[in-house]
Parts: sequence; C-alpha cells; structure tokens
Amino acid sequence: MKALIIGGGIAGPVTAMALQKAGIDSTIYEAYPSGAGDTGAFLTFAGNGMNALAAIGADGPVREAGFDTPRLIFTSGTGKRLGEIPNGGAVSGGNVSQTIRRGDLYQALQSQAAERGIQVEYGKRLVDAHTGPNSVTALFADGTEATGDLLVGCDGLRSVTRRLIDPDAPVTRYVPVLNTGGFSAGVKVPGDPGDFHMMFGKRCFFGYVNAPNGEVWWFANPPRRDEPVSHELSAVESGQWKRTLTELFADDAGPAVEIIQATTNRLAAWSTYDLPKVPRWHNDRMIILGDAAHATSPSAGQGASMAIEDGVLLAKCLRDLPLADAFPAFTDLRRERVEAVVAAGARSANDKAAGPVARVIRDLMLPLVFRKMSTSKAQEWMYGYRIDWDSPVTPPARAA
Ligand SMILES: Cc1cc2nc3c(=O)[nH]c(=O)nc-3n(C[C@H](O)[C@H](O)[C@H](O)COP(=O)(O)OP(=O)(O)OC[C@H]3O[C@@H](n4cnc5c(N)ncnc54)[C@H](O)[C@@H]3O)c2cc1C
Repeated sequence: MKALIIGGGIAGPVTAMALQKAGIDSTIYEAYPSGAGDTGAFLTFAGNGMNALAAIGADGPVREAGFDTPRLIFTSGTGKRLGEIPNGGAVSGGNVSQTIRRGDLYQALQSQAAERGIQVEYGKRLVDAHTGPNSVTALFADGTEATGDLLVGCDGLRSVTRRLIDPDAPVTRYVPVLNTGGFSAGVKVPGDPGDFHMMFGKRCFFGYVNAPNGEVWWFANPPRRDEPVSHELSAVESGQWKRTLTELFADDAGPAVEIIQATTNRLAAWSTYDLPKVPRWHNDRMIILGDAAHATSPSAGQGASMAIEDGVLLAKCLRDLPLADAFPAFTDLRRERVEAVVAAGARSANDKAAGPVARVIRDLMLPLVFRKMSTSKAQEWMYGYRIDWDSPVTPPARAA
C-alpha cells in the first residue's frame, strides 16, 4: 500500500513514521517550501502525546528538545492561590508534560521522519483529489499530481481534505480569546523551574514558566468576543502588543507586567479556533486526522497530542484491517475521546474570557475544581491514554 500524506506539520510526519512501522509506504506533501512553523512560539506537549510517540520509538528527540513542566499553579488577579494540579506525571506513566518551542517540536518530528527515509515534497499545496475504485489521485496547486491507495489529510485547521471528503463539512469555530506570548530574559520571577504559573487576571489570563536556560516563557490570552477580521492582528506592531498587555495586567498582582516588558522576541497575536464535531472524517480512500478533524482550543494543551495519537492509531488500524474496515474502526476508536478533549478546551477558554460577574463566581468555584482535578482519577481519562502498538485492532461491529 502507498499513502499520500497531506501536510508536514505534526500529524503528517508521525503518521508517516507509524505507517512505516506498520509496513506501509508514504510520501508527505507539504504546502510550504520548507518545514517548521512558529505560530504560538511554544506549546505544552502532554504526557499522553509522549506516550503515543514512544509507541513508535519517536519520543527521544522531543524529550531532549523540551523541558519537564510537572506542575500547574493557579492564582487569581489579586494574588490569591486558587490551587495546583499535576501536569500529567503519574497517570502518564511518568511522562510529565513538556514545554517546547513549536519550531523545535516540528523539527524533532520532521528530522526523525527524514532519518527513517520518509520522503517529503515541499511546495505541494493540495487543491483537489479524485478517488477511483482502486486508487486516489491528489492534485496540487503547481499542476502536478500523485497517486496512491489512500490519502491522509493532516492539513490542519483549514483542511482542504476535509472539504473534499464532505463539501458540507463544518468550518472552524472562533474561540473568544486571542493567543500571544514569548520569551523574556534578564528578569527574576518567583517559581521553581518547570512550575507553570497560571493567573486568572482581572482582565486577561496569563501564564509563565521559568525555563532551564534562565529565560521566562510566557503566554497571554486577551479576551476578544468577536472574531478579528483578516490581517487585523498582523497589522498590530509588537510595541503596541506590549503596551496593550501592560495595560491589561496593570491592576493584577504578580510579575506579568515585568515579564512582558522583558520580552526579547517580536510580539504577535493569533485568533484561536476549535472544531467540535466533523460528522464525516473519511470516505473510501481519504481520511482526516489531527486539527483537520477535531481542532481543540490551545487552552486544552492537547492539540499536538491528539494529532499524534491519531497518526499512531490509524497506522495500527491499517496494519490490522483491510482499508474498508480500517477507517470506520479508527473513527469508532477516536471520536468520543477527541470530542471530549475539544469540549474541555472550550470550557477552559470560556473561563478565561469570563465577564466581571462570571469572574467572581469563577474565582470562588475554581479552588473546588482544582482540588477535584488534582486527583489521579480525574486526570486519568486525558493523560493516562495509552496505545499498545502490539495489540491487534478488531473490526468495527458494523463491518464485521
Ligand atoms: C496559538 C496556538 C497555541 C497552541 N498551543 C498548543 C499547546 O500548548 N499544546 C498543544 O498540544 N497544542 C497547541 N496548539 C494546537 C496545535 O498546534 C495543533 O493541534 C497541532 O499543530 C495540530 O497538528 P496538525 O498536524 O493536525 O496540524 P498543523 O500542525 O497545523 O500542520 C498542518 C500542516 O499542513 C500543511 N497544509 C495545510 N494545508 C495544506 C494543503 N492544502 N496542502 C498541503 N499541505 C497543507 C500546513 O502548512 C502544515 O504544515 C496551539 C495552537 C495555536 C494556534
């Protein structure tokens, strides 16, 4: 079998490596002329994602590129401690969440795929595809095409593959917070390295962590009810973001303003989106994975892990089942979990965007919520998920 993988971000290289382990050849077709993106500066990579990478022996370089972030500590804008929760850890078999530059995560995955001999073709933007009884042909914007037995759409939020599978597929849903952040130097702030401090500020959510290299890595989620129009955010200069954020955190306790002022990178901000339910993930020869199928708000800290779990699990399904059964089996195994994660991310983002009244109630409730979330049982469903590479996948009931 030969797979055409569309998109060389996170799901793409992982799917290619997992398919190779399952004995299936693939080529990755990436729209951009080279790999690695830097949207979002850095991300939290959860222990369950690391477990999925370990299932195909691809966890090592990711672990080396990031640093352990075992604890989340929450405060309110008044400085009151609201609670703390472990960030993976015991339930993920010792894999605590990592904090990692986005570019380094992409690089760690893409270079492993290259070392394993997986071919990547850059500058190939999928625009259309045709399925026949025995094959699928992808058409690219540069006029070239490629044919294989199946096509895996790992083409992210604005997936073309999603629309090719179902022209009526839902589009992404705007989540009412922006995302910005960066790296600060020469500033001393409280906290052990690896403790991620999260503050529900009076007007904006803020998070920071002391990185092992002495920098402070931080992000902020300015609330924004209506979706920014195209290019609105990119037109705002870095200095303006600094001033806006400084104003947003001016009345809060804690080091947010000091950290923002010490930022060394150019500041930018992004709108955030999710995709709660895409009814059709596949047709006979094409399937979507990762953000293309179930984007989750960044607030969940799970989008990358979900994309990786998808790739490993799809490869298992294709290893053990004929194509006609593999896609439905994958969907049955994945849908409930990923939709629950997307819902958790949406709740978390909405908490960050609470108005003045909801904020008071939220800050009263959060200590109870964090106490509940701090137990292994409460964390198990999200962080304790494991893919056993060697166990066989059984056909879905309807196809058996
Ligand atoms: C600001 C921000 C912060 C985030 N923070 C976190 C976090 O802390 N933790 C976490 O786990 N997740 C986080 N996420 C989510 C995470 O980045 C995504 O869930 C993850 O990147 C999904 O991987 P993917 O491979 O499905 O898509 P992507 O990583 O988006 O990769 C898609 C690839 O497909 C390519 N492509 C697109 N269209 C085409 C086409 N037509 N033809 C060919 N190639 C195409 C793109 O160029 C890209 O390389 C965050 C996201 C954002 C925006």
